Amino acid sequence: MRILKGADASAAIKIQVAEGLERLKGKVPKLGIIRVGERADDKSYERGAVKRMESFGLRVQSYVYPEKISHEDFEKEFRTINEDPDVAGILLLRPLPGQISEKQIENMIDPAKDLDGISPANIAKVFAGDSTGFAPCTAEAVVEMLKAAGISISGKRITIVGRSMVVGRPLSMLLLQENATVTICHTRTRELAGACRSAEILVAAAGKAGMIDQSFVGKDAVVIDVGINVDEKGRLCGDVDFDSITEIASMATPVPGGVGAVTTAVLAKHLVRAAGLAQKV
Ligand code: NAP
Repeated sequence: MRILKGADASAAIKIQVAEGLERLKGKVPKLGIIRVGERADDKSYERGAVKRMESFGLRVQSYVYPEKISHEDFEKEFRTINEDPDVAGILLLRPLPGQISEKQIENMIDPAKDLDGISPANIAKVFAGDSTGFAPCTAEAVVEMLKAAGISISGKRITIVGRSMVVGRPLSMLLLQENATVTICHTRTRELAGACRSAEILVAAAGKAGMIDQSFVGKDAVVIDVGINVDEKGRLCGDVDFDSITEIASMATPVPGGVGAVTTAVLAKHLVRAAGLAQKV
């Protein structure tokens, strides 16, 4: 089995980012990361994103607010960042604490700065197959990984386990746009293992450590593991029981070092595109 590392797709995206930066003629765009509270997974994603922006030669600033900030105060702060011409793109770490209406913030974010595709305008574009918006970075990262590995998508049977608005649903639309035949599975899917086994490409995005074992994988299938979980020993792991599928899958992504590594590269690509659109270059 070939291990599909995220580094290959990230390297290809880095070249696109450098080309985009050249077109911006010295104006280096800034990413604004907005975090409320001190959740460990938010902070880990933020660290990864900061590191990636810096390594791609982009600017980044974190805006951090206390867990208990009121909706009104947060909205005011968010509006200021949203309207700041120096902030070319925004990454809002979610979920937000319960007192803040996430829906209202999603409706407020400038679609032209909405790098992770959370605004209704960008979601609508993803579902309409219109590539002028921003798709959620993780969903796009899966497509980038397949392309970087030279795996053709057109006509393939692809099963996705997970139907969230962050991964499963937008990814199904991006793959459909690439002419795949897509099956979306979730907790009510009957005979889940069978639906997965019939796939030529299987994407696991359930958030359940090690749930996908060899009984879910068809012979020579490509397995993309989007899951980021912590196992009982406190180690980072995916949704796929990696060791059990090595004899049956043709390729699979590791966790860590797989899709997660590409997600922040896609974020960087989106930032440069947002800056280019703002400068009309
Ligand atoms: P989510 O909102 O919790 O959605 C999980 C989806 O998986 C739901 O649709 C759920 O079905 C389905 N599911 C859960 N358990 C299942 C089971 N036993 N059988 C079948 N379907 C099942 O999670 P998410 O935000 O999409 O994230 C999914 C995973 O990806 C998480 O591990 C997350 O940490 C990771 N993630 C990774 C990245 C990255 O950059 N690599 C980015 C974002 C998320 P129902 O709809 O029926 O409940």
